[in-house]
Amino acid sequence: RPSIMSGKRGLIMGVANNRSIAWGIAKAAHAHGAELAFTYQGDALKKRVEPLAAELGAEVIGHCDVTDGATIDAVFAEVEKRWGKLDFLVHAIAFSDKDELTGRYVDTSQENFSKSLLISCYSLTAVAQRAEKLMTDGGSLLTLTYYGAEKWMPHYNVMGVAKAALEASVRYLAADLGPQGIRVNAISAGPIKTLAASGIGDFRYILKWNEYNSPLRRTVTIEEVGETAAYLLSDMSRGVTGEIHHVDAGYHVVGMKNPDAPDI
Ligand code: NAD
Repeated sequence: RPSIMSGKRGLIMGVANNRSIAWGIAKAAHAHGAELAFTYQGDALKKRVEPLAAELGAEVIGHCDVTDGATIDAVFAEVEKRWGKLDFLVHAIAFSDKDELTGRYVDTSQENFSKSLLISCYSLTAVAQRAEKLMTDGGSLLTLTYYGAEKWMPHYNVMGVAKAALEASVRYLAADLGPQGIRVNAISAGPIKTLAASGIGDFRYILKWNEYNSPLRRTVTIEEVGETAAYLLSDMSRGVTGEIHHVDAGYHVVGMKNPDAPDI
């Protein structure tokens, strides 16, 4: 039975385990007919990613640390060798020193600022440069962002600044790559308990706050982010680029605390 992603081949970057948002996206893309390849960061994650990829009958391309351009080149060379071209790419990668995801933004060190922006923002541009060459029939690039890019959030600190730059990159990349039919979009996901999120101070409080105050009165799942991603990665969204699409149970439209919310 034809499906919205039948015949499409995509690279998934950013699976750490079965709670990763990238895993939710991979499951949905697979369910809609896509063929997938995964990267992993380091040997510790290789052991986690390999069985997950096998579950979806997918390939594991290899190690990629986005701070090391040679590993990015190696991954794209391997994709070219196996597939010759690429239809979509999921970038679900971010990092900041945990010690600076608590307390005040003003105390951010230069070293962690540079590292956070390199891994969480520049890496999208780095992979877009390589993907462009393989997306010969057009394509779709998707990254993950958070509302902390738009508004101050406690503890999000330098990551909020990195996500704001990432969202601006989505717009600039969309304009640069649009003439070739390559679309660039982001999903702004509501808070989800993942490995990366566990580094953010008071994350349980953030989850509860969203549950009590979002229009849908709950948080979102990686499967829900995955279904929206399948739309953005497929031709269903062929008229959409440069977009920051919120999958957050509507939290971003709320201007005040829900007066009926219980105390946290
Ligand atoms: P996760 O820990 O499962 O995934 C983060 C991934 O980033 C890991 O696979 C890790 O290997 C990868 N990574 C970190 N540094 C890297 C590097 N130098 N090179 C290559 N890969 C590297 O957590 P997640 O929450 O699924 O995060 C995925 C994306 O979603 C991130 O961009 C995150 O900021 C974003 N996001 C998360 C939430 C949330 O609440 N969990 C909300 C909105 C957006």
